[in-house]
Parts: sequence; C-alpha cells; structure tokens
Amino acid sequence: MLSRKELQRYSRQVMLPQVGEEGQEKLASARIMIVGLGGLGSPAALYLAAAGIGELHLVDGDQIDLSNLQRQVLYKTNHQGKSKSQVAAQQLTAANPNVRIHAHFQMADEAWLRNHVGQVDLVLDCTDNLAIRHQINRICCELERPVVMASVQGFSGQLISFDFSQGKSPCYACLFPPREQEDIQNCSTVGVIGPILGIVGSAQALEAMKILLGLPVSSLNQLYVIEGESLSMSALKLNKSEICPVCSQSELTESCNK
Ligand SMILES: [Zn+2]
Repeated sequence: MLSRKELQRYSRQVMLPQVGEEGQEKLASARIMIVGLGGLGSPAALYLAAAGIGELHLVDGDQIDLSNLQRQVLYKTNHQGKSKSQVAAQQLTAANPNVRIHAHFQMADEAWLRNHVGQVDLVLDCTDNLAIRHQINRICCELERPVVMASVQGFSGQLISFDFSQGKSPCYACLFPPREQEDIQNCSTVGVIGPILGIVGSAQALEAMKILLGLPVSSLNQLYVIEGESLSMSALKLNKSEICPVCSQSELTESCNK
C-alpha cells in the first residue's frame, strides 16, 4: 500500500495505465543490481532511484577521475578521488531517500557475482569491459535473472536484454562468443560523446522498468544499435545458438556453468 507521500512523489507515472498503483508497488518491491557506475550507470541509476525502485545495489571498484566528469553525470568536480559506488549512493539517496541503497566498492568478478546476483531481481550491465560482460551473462543465465546490457563507443551505442527467468532464452554469448583475449579488451581508452551515454543508459532504465512491470520489452533478444551521428536506430533479432557454450550447454546440464 502506497503512502500519500509516495502517491504524490510518483503521481506522474502512477497515472499511466501501464504503471498504476499496482505497478508502483512492483517497482517498490524490486531489487536491481547496477554493475558499473560510469557513463551508462549514472543516468540509469538516477532514473531508477527517482522512479522508486525498492533496492539498488551499486557495484564499482573505481575512483572518480577528472576525465570522468565529461559524461558521468552522477559526479561533481569536488568528488575527484572518491569511490564511485559510495558517491553514487550518496547522490541517489539525496534524490530519493525511500530507496535502499547498497554500495559495493569493488570490481565485479565471477565469484562475487555468483554470491550476490541471487539477491536481486534484475541486473543492469553498465560496464565497459567485455570479460565482465561475459561473466555477468554467465551468472545471470545460471541464476535465471533478467539482464539489460549496453555499451557505447564514439557516437554509437548498443542495447540488448535477456530474460533468463523465461526458459530457452538466448544469451550474450550466442551473439558474441567469448574469446581467449577478452580480458584485455575494454573501452576505457576509446573516445565517447557524453549524451549518447545518456540516451542508452536511460534506455536501460526504461527496459528494466518494463521487465519489472511485465510490459512488452522490445530489446528482449533483440540488439538495438543507436547511432548518435545520424540519430537513427536499428534492431537485429537474436536467435539462440545451438552450440552456445553458455546457454545451450545449460539446457543439457540444467545449469550454465557445469
Ligand atoms: Zn547463449
């Protein structure tokens, strides 16, 4: 049951037929993990906190650098040198004190994810690291948690979601099979225009809310490519790979990683 204050705070989304009081209660009982509190995680976390998600787990082992401020809109100039997850927690609590926020000052690795992803209802992959993306994919598949993934380079971004709580879902490894050298690839030295992160990170928050509300989710098993230079968007339907080392193996063994 929503309080009068909550009804007032969320009135502009509660009045939507797709949300309503029942939908708002679903959001209030939801737990989301955001892995990576950089350019994508900043807008995603701000919108999810503002929307009244019950619990947010913020995972990032980085400290705020001067060069982050061009695009990572959670952070201000006086935050340099501080922990991203801890500053993000403070900023989001100020935005909406109703949200329970857990700051995890650490890099997500497979063992950590396996211990923590089971405690949330949905994961947002906002990392810039392909190796971690594959680990998130593997663990979400294993623990049957929906995940919304995104990445950005230059002026363009990509977005795709998987709902592993529904049987027979394809996965990220069906699209991009893991490679040996994946751990040396990341986007930390690639140029990026700030607002494309706002567009794609906000889209991640939108897709997460739609999954939680039980609404149709266009990015489910469908890769969206958003081009900032031409302001255009295209979509590519993803089919499950029968030889996928992650999700097809899981059907044989009933677990993704055995
Ligand atoms: Zn797969």
